[in-house]
Amino acid sequence: MSDVSEDVFEFSTDEDVEFALPIVAVVGRPNVGKSTLVNRVLGRRQAVVEDVAGVTRDRIAYDAEWSGRNFTIVDTGGWLPDARERAKAIATQAEIAAQTADVVLFVVDATIPPTADDEAAVRMLRRSGRKVILVANKVDNERLEHEISSLWGLGLGEPFPVSALHGRGSGDLLDKILENLPEARPVVPREAGPRRIALVGRPNVGKSSLLNKLAKEERAVVDSVAGTTVDPVDSFVEFGGETWHLVDTAGLRKRVSHASGTEYYASLRTNAAIEAAEVAIVLLDASEVISEQDQRIITMVIESGRALVIAFNKWDLVDDDRRYQLSKEIDRELRRVPWAVRVNVSALTGRAVDKLAPALRTALSNWERRVPTGQLNQWLTALVQATPHPIRGGRAPRVLFATQAGVSPPKFVLFTTGVLDPGYVRFVERKLREEFDFTGTPIHITVKPRK
Ligand code: GDP
Ligand code: GDP
Repeated sequence: MSDVSEDVFEFSTDEDVEFALPIVAVVGRPNVGKSTLVNRVLGRRQAVVEDVAGVTRDRIAYDAEWSGRNFTIVDTGGWLPDARERAKAIATQAEIAAQTADVVLFVVDATIPPTADDEAAVRMLRRSGRKVILVANKVDNERLEHEISSLWGLGLGEPFPVSALHGRGSGDLLDKILENLPEARPVVPREAGPRRIALVGRPNVGKSSLLNKLAKEERAVVDSVAGTTVDPVDSFVEFGGETWHLVDTAGLRKRVSHASGTEYYASLRTNAAIEAAEVAIVLLDASEVISEQDQRIITMVIESGRALVIAFNKWDLVDDDRRYQLSKEIDRELRRVPWAVRVNVSALTGRAVDKLAPALRTALSNWERRVPTGQLNQWLTALVQATPHPIRGGRAPRVLFATQAGVSPPKFVLFTTGVLDPGYVRFVERKLREEFDFTGTPIHITVKPRK
């Protein structure tokens, strides 16, 4: 049986990173005004800016929007709360920003001349070939604007004068940022109409009985729904106060599923149904031992990234003895899907069949959940501070920040200073699930270490 670790890594590809919003990183020495600038870009006061050097900040990464474009803005000032490391803070910030960001805002305090640290960081950024905008902050009035010409000497082109504190020049800076962002990806909206369900399970678990029960309760197997294209093998069924699009029910209705060929063919068909659906109900026979074939079907759902409801059917046959056995089987056999929504039903008696619609709705809404970047990072910062990555060979990689790159299922990207232990990634996943409720959905986590 596969271990949880496979679930974490199997589906995490670089593609997830590509689907993340573009990242703008703000780099600069302490006290040049990075946090103030981030607040300005966000257009609201997120938190009080601390004057004290070495203060741990509660803001790391946030979603920003300007002229209808969305991006993630990262305040690198929060990366190195450790006092010892603050000395080399700017070099490290610059290095990591160059590897994670699409655009780097290099911030200097225009009222004081650039330092050797600034120059070293700039050299590093220039070598990286990354798009860098030189921001001359604290230009609170026009008089100061004339004094920034010396900043050309940094070799980052024209310095961009702003006053993060008063807002002077910030609109122009945002326009400049947008010019340098990579093309926005069009978001494909989900197809309108009823939610698509696959009702799957090995032969004889009770799929056709359940379908009939669901349809009969509400007297409705609808043949078409206006404005929705439907495969001839699909059907629309009304239950729980809503119309559902059941994928590939032809086999069920005609009761040919057992006869229609080899197990291999049946498995292809099950897989196709899952792929075509948004959520799968995997039906198990609660009166029998959870089998390899049941497991294979659950694996298909996880691998296709669909939401998952596990329904234990034939509950009318379950006595105390079997219930006890089953709970042990669940602990053992379904260990990798503790997050699945589970319901115990009987297609024969109708027991708890009304629980299916709410279960499907829960799974689908979590499947589509999007955690705002700010909220995600406030939580993550606290988590990695409380439980840092274990030390390996004298060093411990750090998690710098995270973004949610997509939904359906939720996909997260962790930006780190090094490769993470699989166990630590599992820990983050478990905590993520506890905090944000991803019941009923797989989640993908991609770790993006700097080289
Ligand atoms: P960080 O350490 O780079 O994040 O800097 P902060 O954003 O914490 O700012 C450091 C100090 O500079 C704070 O006291 C800010 O109020 C002040 N500051 C930031 N931006 C400006 C600005 O545009 N003009 C002036 N006069 N002060 C600023
Ligand atoms: P399918 O192959 O998954 O479509 O399964 P069927 O719906 O054809 O059911 C297989 C057998 O299990 C039939 O004899 C059904 O009457 C029986 N069955 C289905 N659901 C239940 C149930 O909840 N309780 C009991 N006791 N039998 C059931």
